Amino acid sequence: MLRRTKIVATLGPASDDKKTLCKMINAGLDVARLNFSHGEASEHKRRAEMLRAAAESCDRQVGIMGDLQGPKIRIRRFKEHSVALEDGDKFFLDSTLGLMDGDRDGVGVALDTLHNDVSPGDILLLNDGMISLEVESIEGTRILTTVVNGGILSDHKGINLKGGGLSAAALTDIDKENIKLAAEMDLDFLAVSFVREGADVEEARRLFREAGGHGLIVAKVERTEAVANIDSIIEAADVIMVARGDLGVEIGYAELTGIQKKLIRKTRKAHKIVITATQMMESMIHNPIPTRAEVSDVSNAVIDGTDAVMLSGETAVGAYPTAAVKAMAEVAVGAEKYPLPLGITSHRMEDHFGLVDESIAMATMYMANHMSVKAIIALTESGSTTRWMSRIRSDIPIYAFTPHVATSRRVAMYRGVYPVSFAIDISNPRGLYQDIFKTLLDNNLVKVDDLAILTKGDLDGVTGSTNSMTVIQIRSSS
Ligand code: PGA
Ligand code: MN
Repeated sequence: MLRRTKIVATLGPASDDKKTLCKMINAGLDVARLNFSHGEASEHKRRAEMLRAAAESCDRQVGIMGDLQGPKIRIRRFKEHSVALEDGDKFFLDSTLGLMDGDRDGVGVALDTLHNDVSPGDILLLNDGMISLEVESIEGTRILTTVVNGGILSDHKGINLKGGGLSAAALTDIDKENIKLAAEMDLDFLAVSFVREGADVEEARRLFREAGGHGLIVAKVERTEAVANIDSIIEAADVIMVARGDLGVEIGYAELTGIQKKLIRKTRKAHKIVITATQMMESMIHNPIPTRAEVSDVSNAVIDGTDAVMLSGETAVGAYPTAAVKAMAEVAVGAEKYPLPLGITSHRMEDHFGLVDESIAMATMYMANHMSVKAIIALTESGSTTRWMSRIRSDIPIYAFTPHVATSRRVAMYRGVYPVSFAIDISNPRGLYQDIFKTLLDNNLVKVDDLAILTKGDLDGVTGSTNSMTVIQIRSSS
């Protein structure tokens, strides 16, 4: 059975050679993530080149996502690189303290205005929530706290405010540099961290386009405010990432699952793409198999309709990067069999459709799901017809036949959509069908006599011009 759910995996030291990347691609990697929070521009460029070479050598189209660091607020450094905090200790944070002057009493913090954003009684969470501090009082720029949950605190760890509300702007100067880098590297996806509202996403898109970038914009939902402003964010973005790491720290983990389900539902309903991210196979950083709880987590995201599931530390720094991708792929395929029966949908039955290509896509899916066709073939420039199609639940593969590499790498993220490179020449209908049959049969995607649905437009090279669907029976191409 073909896997419909896509796999995003973060590259890092654990996946830093072509051989490992090839293995990961063969195990099911669809989109690689470069984390701009770590490493230099030259390193990201080298990784992207290596990934593209690896994909080429196994004849696969793999997208690349650049993930901006965003205004993650971090503490500065300690004289001794770390301190051990005990419950009940006093500890301060102060933006005017020297960059490396932290000690047992307090540490610097890289946000000048932090003291304005907190009040006595607030809980500050450090190191992904492992350490928590309660604010006692504020004296000038100095925030005096009591340690609620102690632990080892080391240089540059992140800070979140429980409940959200820290005022840092969404795009930092470093992010703006990295947007240019992402454009220069011609990345397929640009992920924007810590967005607060749709305007933040629009700003990132504007800068990316100005810099010459073509890729899709991914909005990471990881702040309390982002959940409140989710409608404007979904509208402004192409892709939503449920960034459960930071989100779980800010809103607490108890409601995370409910919010995840809501985000998947809302994003799909708005015909956009959704990624579920962070700690999905976390134990595989150290172990060759996932826990049952992790299997269940991935399965539930798949059953809820996520387009993609994401690996972070598992493939960036873990001991089993290939096994993590393989396990995720297997679990996705297993989960896609449920709920049963597959294939019948009443989704959007009451809707009015605004666009011709959207209507063709809906008619195609309705017919495909109610008749035994083996494949859907969409001749597509931008991939937009296949995006409409993939919002409808189905177990029939949607092949995006496109001449454009950029479209292939983009649809790699869409659930149930598989890119196939294909030179579209609609001026010679007979030759076109022969070429389609040959491509399908050469790639073992269908068999002779299978029924399939073909969608295409009358105009060559024009985005959004799909205006026909045809039921075709596969003929031998020889
Ligand atoms: P990060 O984002 O891995 O860049 O922090 C994802 C998350 O917060 O879940
Ligand atoms: Mn995050």
